[in-house]
Amino acid sequence: MKPVEELYPLLAQSRTTIITMHQKPDADAMGASLALYHFLIQFGHTVTVISPTNWASWVNWMPGCDTVLNYEADKEKAELALNAAEWLFCLDFNTLGRTKTMVNKLAQLKCTRILIDHHKEPDTASFDFGISDTGKSSTCEMIYDLIINSGHGDKINNEISECIYAGVVGDTGSFRFPSAKASVHLLAADLKSRGLEHSHVHEALYDNFLENRLRFIGHVLLNRMEVYYEYNTVLITVPKIDLLRYEIKTGDTEGLVNFPQTIKGIKLVAVVIDRDEERKWSFRSKGNFDCNAFARKYFEGGGHFAAAGGRSSEPLEVTARKFVQAIKENKSQLQ
Ligand code: 5GP
Ligand code: MN
Repeated sequence: MKPVEELYPLLAQSRTTIITMHQKPDADAMGASLALYHFLIQFGHTVTVISPTNWASWVNWMPGCDTVLNYEADKEKAELALNAAEWLFCLDFNTLGRTKTMVNKLAQLKCTRILIDHHKEPDTASFDFGISDTGKSSTCEMIYDLIINSGHGDKINNEISECIYAGVVGDTGSFRFPSAKASVHLLAADLKSRGLEHSHVHEALYDNFLENRLRFIGHVLLNRMEVYYEYNTVLITVPKIDLLRYEIKTGDTEGLVNFPQTIKGIKLVAVVIDRDEERKWSFRSKGNFDCNAFARKYFEGGGHFAAAGGRSSEPLEVTARKFVQAIKENKSQLQ
């Protein structure tokens, strides 16, 4: 993978460009993709943004989101666009497998592949150009860096500012995590000085749910949460019946994993959700517990040191028991 800087002189030459992101994109994946979209169209690129799957409704407000293709729902149209690609940007994921059913199609393409990502253990051999930097708070921060470092800061308009800010807020837990370094606060200050209304972005992301989602959170915190004080760990197990009862949709469960972190002394929080296709795990840690290594070892997943995800094809109770066994094996790191 050649350094992303080698692309800078080529940015101003218009191309047929596809931007894609990980499945079930969050604010960072969608924000980075749309920020890059609003940047490249200013050079005359023909840009199509493709998500491998559907996404949470709380990113629908992002400027340009209405033009994003859902590969699963609109496969024919998305594949036509992919066939014509000269450049393919892969944002906010480390291996092509994170694009779910799109992986085979992406692997066949002959175009130039560009990675921009901050997850651990990237498959750099699959990309021609790019940057993988686990020190970055978010892929949105990396898109901001690309725009500034390529000498095109003047192209940052309100659409780009809103998308970048949304991803930074999402991945830093609203500037709470250690990943929100001084450079991240300076980025926010720069976007503010360019006219960003940051409180609108925050409201659009977090104050836009239906009543049922809050009732669902109350229910699972009360009835589905186990605290293992001996291991400084919390586990929330969400059965399908809860998802049906509260009409939970893609994105409604995002943020659930953050609530148990408010309990004093907790080092690891895990949430497992009984989705149709798999049991989906989320892990968050504080201190020196490595979620990426844990998710890789036990739950076919990965991500970052302090935030990772995984999956299991076993029934909910079985995978939950496996988790309890796993924290026992990792007792020394959790104390
Ligand atoms: P979440 O718990 O919000 O689904 O994911 C936490 C972080 O881990 C996100 O940055 C997400 O992109 C990443 N992640 C989630 N699942 C996986 C996975 O299966 N593999 C890898 N490599 N990263 C994941
Ligand atoms: Mn991210």
